[in-house]
Amino acid sequence: MTEKFIDLTAPAVRGLHPYVPGKPVSELEREYGVKDIVKLASNENPLGPGSRARAALQAGIADAGYYPDGGGFALKNRLARLHGVGTECITLGNGSNDVLVLLAEAFLTPDTEAVYSQYGFAVYPIAVQATGAKACVAPALPATDAMPLGHDLQAMTGLVSARTRLIFVANPNNPTGTWLDGTSLRRFIAAVPPSTLVVLDEAYFDYSRGVDCPDASAWLGEFPNLVVVRTFSKAYGLAGLRVGYALSHPQVAEILNRLRQPFNVNSLALAAAEAALDDKAHLQETVRLNDDGLRQLEQGMRQLELQVVPSAGNFLLVDLGRPAGPVNESLLRQAVIARPVGNYGLPNHLRVSTGTAAQNTRFLSALAAALKQ
Ligand SMILES: *Cc1c(COP(=O)(O)O)cnc(C)c1O
Repeated sequence: MTEKFIDLTAPAVRGLHPYVPGKPVSELEREYGVKDIVKLASNENPLGPGSRARAALQAGIADAGYYPDGGGFALKNRLARLHGVGTECITLGNGSNDVLVLLAEAFLTPDTEAVYSQYGFAVYPIAVQATGAKACVAPALPATDAMPLGHDLQAMTGLVSARTRLIFVANPNNPTGTWLDGTSLRRFIAAVPPSTLVVLDEAYFDYSRGVDCPDASAWLGEFPNLVVVRTFSKAYGLAGLRVGYALSHPQVAEILNRLRQPFNVNSLALAAAEAALDDKAHLQETVRLNDDGLRQLEQGMRQLELQVVPSAGNFLLVDLGRPAGPVNESLLRQAVIARPVGNYGLPNHLRVSTGTAAQNTRFLSALAAALKQ
């Protein structure tokens, strides 16, 4: 008999396409037989965890035989202090991806709708489609805009109806790097009906302090339907540990708490995240390295006569002016992993994360060689 388990799945699952992650280093080693690989594909922190997080991880090994604190008491207290909110406003997740999925599971059904932007973060369509809700995708700003391919808040507002339960906004956005200023964003949130939650994903918050990108966590008291999502995966250098969180109205947090797995954040992640929040020196060093990296990459791309999208994140989106597939293939053969974004509907673009100066140099010379072929 030929099994067709796909026919047995929930209808919403049938049309899903899995998330396409950056190629892991070990996979490239296996498949291409190359060594000394530079991975600039997943917006990871090239410094990794800071010394305080590393020490917390070492110390945490002894307790790994116990279940973690399912309520995340210590980390929530630390975060409550950081954001000036009560611990009842905080939901911890196994990465912020977990929190995004919990929001979709809690508020979306096949007769409701969710709004997000074209070229918005790839997890939004997956989380929405899995619930069977209707995805309303707002066209992005044109490539000629000051924020090329960025969120068009007017277009997004136009898609909101009485059935809209969630709006996903990434600020800054991945994979474009574009951002929204505080005035426009506040006006947008204020115009959204109270029956619609605005999920503001601030994964790159710490990298965006140099531009007019707001800290929306300060607006939580004013907008009960605002949910701010943050992660330890990017500037804090803990992507492998999977920890993120949502700040929201206590009722929203209470709803998410009903749905989440009882021990959704592991004990090492809890310990490392708490320690990372106290490591200001590591965060500063990370942001400084990123500022240098963005400058270096931008300058290098300009020398190659390539158009880059302005970025407030730790990555750059570049228009290669030709299909990115063969260029990426050449980069892989040169042991450099970047991120083609054809899955976002951007077949000529490549996204590259900032690395150390040496890694950025490796990327730029590999790109120059690839473009000559
Ligand atoms: C990387 C990223 C995240 C973080 O995902 P985690 O699950 O926390 O690792 C969330 N949102 C956006 C826009 C991102 O780029």
